[in-house]
Amino acid sequence: MHPSAVVWDPALLGYDLGGEHPFNPVRLELTIRLARELGVLDDVELLVPEAATDKELYRVHVPEYLEAVKQAPMAGWDVGHGLGTTDNPVFSGMHDSAALVVGSTLLAARKLAEGEAERAVSIAGGLHHAMPDRAAGFCVYNDCSIAISWLLDHGFDRIAYVDTDVHHGDGVQAAFYNDPRVLTVSLHQHPFTLWPGTGYSGETGEEGAEGTSVNLPLPPHTRDPGWLRAFHAVVPSLLEQFQPQLLVTQCGVDSHEEDPLADLSLSVDGHREIYRTLRELAQRYAGGKWLAVGGGGYQLIRVVPRSWTHLLATVLDRDVSPETPLPPGWRDTVGRAAPGAELPLKMTDEADTAYRPWGDGQDDPVDIAIRDTRRAVFPLHGLDPDDPRD
Ligand SMILES: [Zn+2]
Repeated sequence: MHPSAVVWDPALLGYDLGGEHPFNPVRLELTIRLARELGVLDDVELLVPEAATDKELYRVHVPEYLEAVKQAPMAGWDVGHGLGTTDNPVFSGMHDSAALVVGSTLLAARKLAEGEAERAVSIAGGLHHAMPDRAAGFCVYNDCSIAISWLLDHGFDRIAYVDTDVHHGDGVQAAFYNDPRVLTVSLHQHPFTLWPGTGYSGETGEEGAEGTSVNLPLPPHTRDPGWLRAFHAVVPSLLEQFQPQLLVTQCGVDSHEEDPLADLSLSVDGHREIYRTLRELAQRYAGGKWLAVGGGGYQLIRVVPRSWTHLLATVLDRDVSPETPLPPGWRDTVGRAAPGAELPLKMTDEADTAYRPWGDGQDDPVDIAIRDTRRAVFPLHGLDPDDPRD
């Protein structure tokens, strides 16, 4: 049994919001090309997804919304449902492309449920903002929520979802806000300073599911050490208590310093560290089962390809050393396609990711965020929010 499944097909590039829209599928193309040139995908069979069926999409979305998405490219009128806006422009083949993204994450989930893989990655997935009846934040259908819903019907009844995108994972939180079987944890830039304006520490889940929605809103320019300090102060303890059978992670990389849409100021090295940490947590607390999806990330050339190559490598246990030079073939191709772009030289930003564990008496804005989140949810899991050992 190969322990890891990678889902990819160039047809996924059809999810293209067009024009100058920041969500440009070239980021996926450049990622796969880079991973290939570094040997990360050698001998790996890339699994080709099929579009999710309407029935599968109905797990999360309402029929009227599917109809609106299908009709939108032909409609000469305002179709509503968040479609036709600057964030979510209507594009040709929108339904089919969005359903294929869902099919991609569902295929990854299926490989885990059938025991054919221990880990699976759907890099085109991670559309965590889509709501039951509307598109939001560049996301048409919510592949994360649909895959989790499917897994709940196929042998799993305790699933942890950890969202490291710079934006709040609002769509997934909403889908399982009243479901105690799913622990959703989102670390993101503070809602005061970034769309969608939700994800406060006080959002902890509805009655019957209290404590299974966890939010850690972080101040702008938190940087790698602060981010990792916050993550380690909150996430491992919760996973240990929750005892998931599977870990789902949304791995958006718009948290990077150079991302044009946000200001959390992480590095490619921070992203690499996050993936390695998620892998370790899946091993320790989720029986090794890990489903990773992509997400946001709008520095298309300098950031996404490197960070998600690290993600693919981590899932495949083929970790790429930060000092690895970018292959000349990749640099040539990108240089021709984007003349004038400043290309990265190595798989590192040479950032120092070393962090000090929480509980050393410091009290900066990151520590205040940590304390607020721990106080909001730790008691609901039998943990002491003020004891750093918990
Ligand atoms: Zn995002």
